[in-house]
Amino acid sequence: MATNKFMRGRVDLYVKEIYNFVEQRGVLAIWEKATLCSCQVENERETMPDYNCPACHGKGYFYFDPQQVNVAFTNVAGQKEQTPIGLLDVGTALVTANPEYKIGFRDRLTFIDSETSYSEVRRYEGRIGGELLNYPIHEMIAVYKRNIEIPSSEYTWEAGKRELKFNEGVLNYGEGFSVLYRIRPVYIVIDIPHELRGTYVKFQHKVDTYYPLPRQYMIKREDLLPYSRGQLL
Ligand SMILES: [Zn+2]
Repeated sequence: MATNKFMRGRVDLYVKEIYNFVEQRGVLAIWEKATLCSCQVENERETMPDYNCPACHGKGYFYFDPQQVNVAFTNVAGQKEQTPIGLLDVGTALVTANPEYKIGFRDRLTFIDSETSYSEVRRYEGRIGGELLNYPIHEMIAVYKRNIEIPSSEYTWEAGKRELKFNEGVLNYGEGFSVLYRIRPVYIVIDIPHELRGTYVKFQHKVDTYYPLPRQYMIKREDLLPYSRGQLL
């Protein structure tokens, strides 16, 4: 059985059980840390993020230090999730990660082995590299101008890139278009129900020793979150 610095001695079987469950049954995700973006204090209206900020794109947070982690979908009791994801609330799920990953509030998880549909609308800007979509494209489904489909021969894109490039003359500057495409699902940590949870183990120690437990996180699809603090969901 795998042991590490979090599991020395006779740690509760319960702790080992969750630990192994996450390692063996978890899914791969890219974890990025979130920090508030400093554009908020440079803006004339302080505390409002700058919509043109290249770091946070007006979200007020930006993400850095990507690392690969294993997380397991779990239910409220911390056991393997049996109910379909989404029953909790639209686009919300609970995941458990082992304690060496100090995942924080507002951090971002991208599930690299899954995909989901995502739709957005944009105004054509005629950018040289192509129009910049919100997420890297995994697969393009359709591009529309109102209810008129723009044939796929009229634009190009690359898997893993955010740019959608239209052939010349397809759209006029300022014209709207909608895109439906497949992305790697992106979630934000919205709650850490047991932030201070750990367990004290006495066995083979003169004094109680504190062991951090695998930690549970409530996550929500980023596109279903409010963009700024205080905005309603
Ligand atoms: Zn910013």
